[in-house]
Amino acid sequence: MSLLTQEHELVRKTAREFAEKYVEPIARKMDRENYYPREAIREAGKLGILTPTVPAEYGGGGGDLRSAVVVLEELGRVSGGFSLLVEAYGILFADAVNNFASRRQKEEILPKVAAGDKIGAFALSEPCCGSDAAAIQTRSERRGGEWVINGHKMWITNGYYADYYLLAARTGPLEARHKAITVFLLPRSNCVEASPIEVMGVRGTGTAELKFNDCVASDDDIVGEVNGGWKIIMHTLNVGRVAISGVAVGVARGAFEEAYQWALNRELFGKKLIDFQNTQFEIAEMAAAIETARALAYYAAYLYDVKSPDFLMMSHVAKLQTARIAVDVTRRAVQIEGGFGYSKESKAEMFYRDAKILEIGEGTNEVMKYVVFKLIHKR
Ligand SMILES: Cc1cc2nc3c(=O)[nH]c(=O)nc-3n(C[C@H](O)[C@H](O)[C@H](O)COP(=O)(O)OP(=O)(O)OC[C@H]3O[C@@H](n4cnc5c(N)ncnc54)[C@H](O)[C@@H]3O)c2cc1C
Repeated sequence: MSLLTQEHELVRKTAREFAEKYVEPIARKMDRENYYPREAIREAGKLGILTPTVPAEYGGGGGDLRSAVVVLEELGRVSGGFSLLVEAYGILFADAVNNFASRRQKEEILPKVAAGDKIGAFALSEPCCGSDAAAIQTRSERRGGEWVINGHKMWITNGYYADYYLLAARTGPLEARHKAITVFLLPRSNCVEASPIEVMGVRGTGTAELKFNDCVASDDDIVGEVNGGWKIIMHTLNVGRVAISGVAVGVARGAFEEAYQWALNRELFGKKLIDFQNTQFEIAEMAAAIETARALAYYAAYLYDVKSPDFLMMSHVAKLQTARIAVDVTRRAVQIEGGFGYSKESKAEMFYRDAKILEIGEGTNEVMKYVVFKLIHKR
């Protein structure tokens, strides 16, 4: 049985054509100048690529999680940054809104977000707490008939340019941890102070530090229930961990393809680099690792699509292993390219830096192992 249908292959064709036409030409500019690809985002919106799992009635791709992984793999093959940007946009923000927001919220926000006219960001992490997200300190307090939000978010992808934040805030005591967290769908206004953050890889993704100063929200801006935010956050991250595995597969492929071409053309000691058995073994190691990563990512997405109880374990296994594979394959690609691989002319160099975030963002490798152990121990 194939995990991917003909429909997924059509999505792949669209995503690949889009990536080569619109993303490839700006990938280096994103990386070198920290350029945020506003126009390419709109183009992706026209094709449903930006929000692959949002229903077509809202302007999204109308696909399942495997469709999203296909899109992210193809985007990642030309730019880890663009792929991660779409993952945070289309899955952490838009898929979560689609899964948990009210009909009114969805009708108001999703069409603009799916079209790429309005940007959405998922704002959970804080300077105090990333892995320990249940300890977040951003507060939302009831004053009169309104909610007043104050706090500080950190590392938020698309955050600098976002028009809407899916924001996790504390609505009870710190000691209550995850039981006192509420998710708000907050439109950007003057109460939000955004500062860009310079990062090592996945550049051009609008990574930002955000300060929320007396931001006012109404009951209508709550997603789900008061103090019911943890369920939304966990579900979204579990799905995101599979989606980001697609980014990892793409980044590994992008570096592999360049290194393979390099080995075919580079001459040394009177022969081609590819004719040395060590190079052949390296190419084989990299290809085998990419196929492993791909199998994991698509299998985990399939388990989600068919609502299998095994999904949770595989989501964390896929995230852990695909991130490691992306770092390992991109490192080997740089090595095959020698001095060129270490230069800014090499794409492998960019992919190597892009890959590292995959072991940190949306849960570090250590957090993945923590969850895998917990699931094994519970059995
Ligand atoms: C480029 C980028 C984009 C991001 N985008 C977003 C975004 O869009 N939205 C968002 O909300 N967040 C985002 N993040 C934040 C990201 O999810 C966090 O950085 C990540 O979860 C790690 O949290 P931390 O940085 O606070 O590190 P910490 O949690 O302080 O971790 C530090 C170290 O401790 C280790 N550690 C943690 N727990 C344990 C444990 N139990 N046992 C042993 N070791 C442990 C970690 O693995 C890590 O090595 C982004 C981060 C970056 C860098």
